[in-house]
Amino acid sequence: MVTKVNKSKAAFQPLLREFSFLFALSQTYSTSMSVNHSKLNEILKISRNLRDQNLRILAVFDLDSTLFNVSYRTQKILHEYAEKFQKTELKNIQIQPEDWGIKEALYRAGYSIENDHDFFIELRDFWRERFFSNDYIHYDIPYPGAIAYLIELAATGCEIKYLTGREQTKMAKGSEEVLKKWGFPLKPGQLILKPERTLDDALFKNDWFAQLDKHNYQKIYFFENEPVNINAVYKSCPEVEIIFIESTHARKEEVTAPIPRIKHYVRESC
Ligand SMILES: [Mg+2]
Repeated sequence: MVTKVNKSKAAFQPLLREFSFLFALSQTYSTSMSVNHSKLNEILKISRNLRDQNLRILAVFDLDSTLFNVSYRTQKILHEYAEKFQKTELKNIQIQPEDWGIKEALYRAGYSIENDHDFFIELRDFWRERFFSNDYIHYDIPYPGAIAYLIELAATGCEIKYLTGREQTKMAKGSEEVLKKWGFPLKPGQLILKPERTLDDALFKNDWFAQLDKHNYQKIYFFENEPVNINAVYKSCPEVEIIFIESTHARKEEVTAPIPRIKHYVRESC
């Protein structure tokens, strides 16, 4: 018996939906790749050209959520808390790359600030003490392509600095170890940390760029994920070209300036 093929439009709807979804996904990925590819390669090309003219170029990179996915750090801390206080519902909690802090993961686990306020405070303090320390940054993972890109960029003659809101006294040692462990270019003086934790990140980074002798450089790039920092530097140092790393941020401000945006550092064509 031959099965009659239903050629009506309705019969093709699920297939069409599936195809449309896959097409949209491939377009998004392809667009993201091409933007990454062209901007990142453009910087390499500019750096080579400037080196050939004996001119200096500087690229400044933030660390957390710019070069490193920190969700593994938070996940490790929450799992330790679960183990220590026998909170079974937290033992397998997953931190998503786009999460900021611990709140979103706790919501997904069924908690709410209204009903579990004291628990939120206790866990936040436990998390903070460990998250902002030398001991847990070893769990961070660099974003795809980041190591290879910085190595290649350094090889073109571009000077590289790491400008981070991590506190000097509590995180300098671990930050240096982690950068070296993953093979990022690192020489003395390249890693700049915040002198004290209470200092506002945007103020710290803005002041650093304000005090930088920018005339020494033909071109300066700043890779950063936090809109508050981006907006501050964009406003006060227009000569700095900023690349917005669209990973995650504190949701306090948005980036409205027409600056390049990238999600990762992978440059191979797909
Ligand atoms: Mg950051």
